[in-house]
Formats: sequence, structure tokens, C-alpha cells
Amino acid sequence: MHAELIDGKAIAATIRGEIARDVAALTARGVIPGLTVVLVGDDPASATYVGAKEKASVEAGMKGGTIRLPASTSQQELLTLVERLNADPAVHGILVQMPLPKHIDPDTVIRHIRPDKDVDGFHPENVGKLLIGHTDGFVSCTPAGVIELLVRSGVDTRGAEAVIIGRSNIVGKPMAALLVQGRAGGDATVTVCHSRTKDLAAHTRRADILIAAIGRAEMITGDMIKPGAVVIDVGMNSVPDATKAKGSRLCGDVHFASAVEVASKITPVPGGVGPMTIAMLLRNTVRAAERTLG
Ligand code: NAP
Repeated sequence: MHAELIDGKAIAATIRGEIARDVAALTARGVIPGLTVVLVGDDPASATYVGAKEKASVEAGMKGGTIRLPASTSQQELLTLVERLNADPAVHGILVQMPLPKHIDPDTVIRHIRPDKDVDGFHPENVGKLLIGHTDGFVSCTPAGVIELLVRSGVDTRGAEAVIIGRSNIVGKPMAALLVQGRAGGDATVTVCHSRTKDLAAHTRRADILIAAIGRAEMITGDMIKPGAVVIDVGMNSVPDATKAKGSRLCGDVHFASAVEVASKITPVPGGVGPMTIAMLLRNTVRAAERTLG
């Protein structure tokens, strides 16, 4: 078997086109969706992500802006800024880029963001709404993007054995909550694996849908995959590669060359889940703006 590629870049482009139409409709009603990203410090990877988010929001016709603060910013200064953004009616979505410098507690910052502006979906109120199946909250962008990829690729999740590797608050846990919900892209039977899981391969080999969110380069090999499974690779790892000008390359948590021979559908890295994360951030921001109209 040679798996069909799930083209996240193309699917994300379609969604971004839909979002641009929604933004135009809202703008015609006098509301320009506004997304403000806050970046503290000068981590190069974070700066790249933030730049991509700002560019995408402006391309969609939103009011985008990034507030860049020095790494020496105190927690109180950051909380004061969040309060100002919470109160600003032109700002519909607030995203504080993680990771934050060590002296700032990320949970305190996340709890400070108004839940109805928390377009990252990290606030405990939004996480709780996701768990109890309320649809008026915001869902973490990467798992929401995975569901969109599955639905738009025609993958039937109903009754499927879905195995997630990774139990982080931003990917693994919300991914499990979405797959188990009784609605489109859900109704799966879900197993969540992690570093304490015994015999990981015994679980992965049962999966009709296998989602890797581990942060370990190419850990999931073809022999760990059930023939015909759908494989979604969330991982983004930089590994040394002397053949590349910058001395490194990006790869996923799945060993693509062996997995592509076993799976029926698979996401590439890059060009799979990554572009969907930004598309879902824009969609959440449009929803936040729509809700201000009642
Ligand atoms: P994380 O917080 O580090 O969580 C990794 C998870 O993998 C943990 O639950 C950990 O288990 C589990 N794990 C680690 N080693 C394992 C092993 N040997 N066997 C089984 N499970 C193992 O990472 P994350 O934030 O969820 O991100 C995961 C990956 O997705 C990273 O590569 C990240 O860069 C990528 N990512 C991509 C996007 C995107 O837009 N494409 C967005 C977010 C993240 P324990 O809990 O037991 O430690």
C-alpha cells in the first residue's frame, strides 16, 4: 500500500478563503475581527510562529497586531497588558505566545485572559466547555485542526479505534475530548498513550486512526501501524541534516518513509497539521468577533 497524502496546506488554504469571506461579511456589518498576539522575549521559533500568525490574520482581512515585549518584562506588566486587551473592544482575540520566560507563570497569564477572547482555547473555562460538549467555547487550535483534516479528507471517525500518543494540555488531551464527542469528527473509541504506557506498539497497531503528538523525531515506524490506518503526525522536530543549508530539517514524530507504505492516508511534515493550527486560530477569532454581535 502507498498512502494518500492529506494535504494540510491545501485544506488550510481553503479554510482561510472561507474565513476571508466571513471577515468581509463582518466588516460590512461594522466589525473588523481583531487578533492581538503578545510575544515576550526573543525565542527565534516563537518569533517565526508569531510572524506567521500576524501575516495570516492580515491576509484574511483582520486587524492583526503583535505586541513584542522584552524578556525582562515582569509578570505584573504582562498581566496589566492582558487586562488592557481584555477591555479593548477592537481586540476580539488575544494570544500570548508560549513558552514564556521562566519568571512568568503561564497558567496565571492564561487564566487572566477573558475566556471569550481566549482564541487559543487554553483557559480552564474553555477547556471545561470542550469536555462537557458545549460548543460556545474555544477549542485548542491544533486538535481542532486535526479534526478538520479528518472530516475534510472523508475519514469516518464513527466507531473507529483512535489512538493518540501524547497527553499534553494543548494537543493530546483536547484531541481525545474532540474524538470522543458525539458529533462530526467524533464518536471514536479513544485510547491516550504517554511515556508510562506499557507496550506502546500493541496500542498503535490497533489504531484505525493514529495521532502522534510526542515531540520525538520519527519515533513511530511503519511496523507500529495497522495496515490501512489513517496517520496524523502532529510532531514538529528539528533534526540535524548536513545536506541542508541551515544544517537541520523539520520532521514529524512518524517515520514517514516506512509509515507511508502501511497507512491508507497520512499527513506530511511540514505541510500537514502545522498550517491547520493557524487556520483554526483565525476561525476562532472570527467566532469571537461574531459573538460580539450577539
Ligand atoms: P509535550 O507537552 O512535550 O507532550 C508530549 C507527550 O508525549 C507527553 O504526554 C509525553 O508523555 C508523551 N511522550 C513522550 N515520550 C514518549 C514516549 N517515548 N512514548 C510515549 N509517549 C511519550 O508536547 P506537545 O506540546 O503536546 O507537542 C507534541 C509535538 O507536537 C511536538 O513535536 C510539538 O512541536 C508538536 N506540535 C505541533 C503543533 C503544530 O501546529 N503542528 C502544535 C503543537 C505542538 P508524558 O506526559 O508521560 O511525559
